[in-house]
Amino acid sequence: MATPRSRNPDPSAPTEGNATDRALATIAEREAAILAPYAMHSIDTRGRRHPQEEHAYRGPFQRDRDRILHCAAFRRLAGKMQVFTGERGDYHRTRLTHTMEVASIARTIGRALRLNEDLIEALALLHDLGHPPFGHAGEDALDECLHEAGGFSHNRHALVIVEQLEEHYTEFPGLNLTHEVLSSQQARADKNSPPESLLEARVVDAADSITYNAHDTDDAVKLGLVTLDELAEVPLAGEGLRRIATQQRDLPDTVIRKALVHYLIDQQVGEVLRTAGPALAAAGIANAEEARRSNLVFGGGDELAREKRELELFLRERVYRHPDLLQVRDEAKAKLRQMFDFYAAEPQRLPAFYQQRHAQVGVRAVGDFLAGMTDRYCLRIYREQFGQ
Ligand code: MG
Repeated sequence: MATPRSRNPDPSAPTEGNATDRALATIAEREAAILAPYAMHSIDTRGRRHPQEEHAYRGPFQRDRDRILHCAAFRRLAGKMQVFTGERGDYHRTRLTHTMEVASIARTIGRALRLNEDLIEALALLHDLGHPPFGHAGEDALDECLHEAGGFSHNRHALVIVEQLEEHYTEFPGLNLTHEVLSSQQARADKNSPPESLLEARVVDAADSITYNAHDTDDAVKLGLVTLDELAEVPLAGEGLRRIATQQRDLPDTVIRKALVHYLIDQQVGEVLRTAGPALAAAGIANAEEARRSNLVFGGGDELAREKRELELFLRERVYRHPDLLQVRDEAKAKLRQMFDFYAAEPQRLPAFYQQRHAQVGVRAVGDFLAGMTDRYCLRIYREQFGQ
């Protein structure tokens, strides 16, 4: 990693040094003006594993955001399910639209708290990059298949993708992201480590949970798995529905459903900001390094945490464990297991890239190949191999 540079707030700095130094000084100056002291400032980055010159007009986290956005694994999120597969129409969220919603909500929170939005966006776009086809069912199947080779987790796999599988540079594999982006994703992957992460990463975690609570509620009602009347009995959603009902009579359910999504997001984001602002002020954090060691979480107050738990419990019972979904999941798991066994026994059937990888990492290459598939591609390859 490159040596950390000292922050230089001297406004005369942009006129000195070469073009990329001047660009970084300009970015540092802008960030010094708009970011809070506890934010991760670009000038303080610990750099990249493979040193690269700074860009003429993009900061390091802006470049990371762009690198993730332009990688193949990111585009494939469009074909990966969040909760529902493509057979249920085209209204509900995919892994890609979920990711974009997380990025949007995280940036809203980050801007209000004067955190580094470029870093937040990079982390949000990265956070689900490692998801295999068929959501958590796919993850469970691969975890079982790879049990003796270390298991599989989508959070860890995101790191494998951006450090090993994506090929964008002639000199080295991976996207060569900054230390801050990689270590934040590592903290997501390593649940046992102390929760030392930048505030930007904690904002993305908060936005992730706000986002899926709201959009899974929306999708579940739209797909007919739960009704608005049933949601009226669940704390967070029920309060929203009562408020919407007082505003206007005789609204169609489609409008009420959308107003409810708006309420759920607005209520949760508002509560996070109401509690985070005073907490940050009271903590008196002087810089990002102190922020990393702080125990601040952006979950809102105890009341919201309790209400969220109840909504999540409701979604788990009524949506995630709905018999129709369980059947899709069981079928997907069985197919992935069959495909895994097939390629593990005959790695010469893998595409050339994964055959080479198999020579280096063994059976994990089979997991890497399967995890990269979209839902549809997975089903197509399954049909080609097993004719069903
Ligand atoms: Mg997510």
